[in-house]
Amino acid sequence: MTISYDLETITPHTVANTTGEGRGNAGGIALRNFCIAIDSTMYVKTGEILRNNLETKFNIPVKYLVITHYHGDHIFGIKPFKDVCVLSSEITSKIMLNSETKSRYQVFIKDLAKEGPIGEGLEYIVPTLLFTDKLIIQDDDLYIEIFHTGGHTAGSSFVSFPYEKVIFAGDLIFENTFPYIGDPTCNPEHLIEALEKMREMDADIYIPGHGPILKGANSLNRHIDFMIEFKNIIQDAIRDNLNAKDIGVPDIFGEPDANRKNMAINHWLNFYKNK
Ligand SMILES: [Zn+2]
Repeated sequence: MTISYDLETITPHTVANTTGEGRGNAGGIALRNFCIAIDSTMYVKTGEILRNNLETKFNIPVKYLVITHYHGDHIFGIKPFKDVCVLSSEITSKIMLNSETKSRYQVFIKDLAKEGPIGEGLEYIVPTLLFTDKLIIQDDDLYIEIFHTGGHTAGSSFVSFPYEKVIFAGDLIFENTFPYIGDPTCNPEHLIEALEKMREMDADIYIPGHGPILKGANSLNRHIDFMIEFKNIIQDAIRDNLNAKDIGVPDIFGEPDANRKNMAINHWLNFYKNK
């Protein structure tokens, strides 16, 4: 089976794959002497091609892999990056090391292997270099900034490359599709704050965790509107004592599948009831 995993040139120093072939989007940034990969896709094979493509295109080695958050479609392809420095927020590492996540992901990994060659050979690899609020990687005159915000998950972080005004948002943004906002560690307030922070940074390009790239800070408006509208729906439902099954979702991103919808409603209900 031949697997293709091409990288799209976003700017002279950044590339990404947003086709969904590796499930979660991934990409990279070339500084002067080395590259930084961002997320590893869900498969070892696509992770491997991602790394090869980065090193071939820019002709410098990958020195760091930044993991934006712990979800399988962003971390299961880490294996080909075993020899480079894998980094994430401290909370992402903590979530990955807890026994509940480990046992849940063992089942996930077994199920993936049944999908055939693409799902084989996964190793559960936890980042080793951890940051709390912010980390800068500097190389000569170029640098990236990584911000831990929480939101989509408690460990969620995004990467900014100010030189070309590009932000890799991880799953803080799902473009043109109903977002997954039902993770047990999802914090709706932090998610809204993270989106507002990225909008304030006024990037030219935002690369989401899923879906095509977004252009300009204004493209984040409907994402922020969606979250605020959903928050209002949930708070009204709590005030009116509605049951989860009688609660709707904003229609900005269409109707999600029942599972994703129920997870979002139940999680946000619990969050705002206990707030
Ligand atoms: Zn995710």
